[in-house]
Amino acid sequence: MARGKQIYEGKAKILYEGPEPGTLIQFFKDDATAFNNQKHSVLEGKGVLNNRISEFVMLGLERIGIPTHFIKRINMREQLIRHVEIIPLEVVVRNVAAGSICKRLGIKEGEALPRSVVEFYYKDDKLGDPMVGEDHITAWGWASPQEIDDMMAYALRVNDYLSGLFATAHIRLIDFKLEFGRQYEGDLVRLILADEISPDGCRLWDLESGEIMDKDRFRRDLGDVVEGYREVARRLGILRNDEEPKDNGKGPKLVSSNGESTS
Ligand code: UDP
Repeated sequence: MARGKQIYEGKAKILYEGPEPGTLIQFFKDDATAFNNQKHSVLEGKGVLNNRISEFVMLGLERIGIPTHFIKRINMREQLIRHVEIIPLEVVVRNVAAGSICKRLGIKEGEALPRSVVEFYYKDDKLGDPMVGEDHITAWGWASPQEIDDMMAYALRVNDYLSGLFATAHIRLIDFKLEFGRQYEGDLVRLILADEISPDGCRLWDLESGEIMDKDRFRRDLGDVVEGYREVARRLGILRNDEEPKDNGKGPKLVSSNGESTS
């Protein structure tokens, strides 16, 4: 599929114009960054895994009625998506204390929260993505009260779905980040899930040992970062146990749901 000109390059992805109006091609890079870009590495094979994991999760969410930007995977590193106007908020759902909430509220890492909580962060690298409340969001017009309600409701439904999905893979979903966008269809505006859902934006711990299988392996210099992501993909049934993860000789071979090799 022919991709058009590059319209955006982020830390882990590049967006190109898609083949039809209203579509984009999302390319997954191997780059990993942390601590507001202060730490950077190229982790060979990460983009291929995130492309496939995000496809798998987005398709599952569509099946339970959550609208997403995902249309189809094109190849090992690219997917066709709907063009949306990104809402400049990161929506974080937490089930267990980890990362920034531990410091902010003085909670021990690993402590279960009284219930799942949803938080909003304003997307601005210069400011280090500060946490914001509903009043800030509506005062500055980043999202309407209705959009805030919809994002919270979707986020909790995504949390229920993902918690179950990962639990069957023997993985505990600690927290994760979502992004939403507006899709314009004539006079109508539709809120849909955008970006990606992958170990780059989730905390995933082995259900029994608590072993970290997400981007914290990179943040904390634990090593075997891509191996953690690959194990997530394997447990979700995306990769076969015996597969060597190489595309053009450098990424995972993909399997369809019936176990046959795909493109
Ligand atoms: N997260 C993300 N992008 C960000 C900030 C956070 O994907 O810019 C994810 C992160 O991977 C974790 C969750 O959101 O799964 C909560 O992150 P937290 O606020 O604890 O921040 P961190 O400690 O990761 O900086």
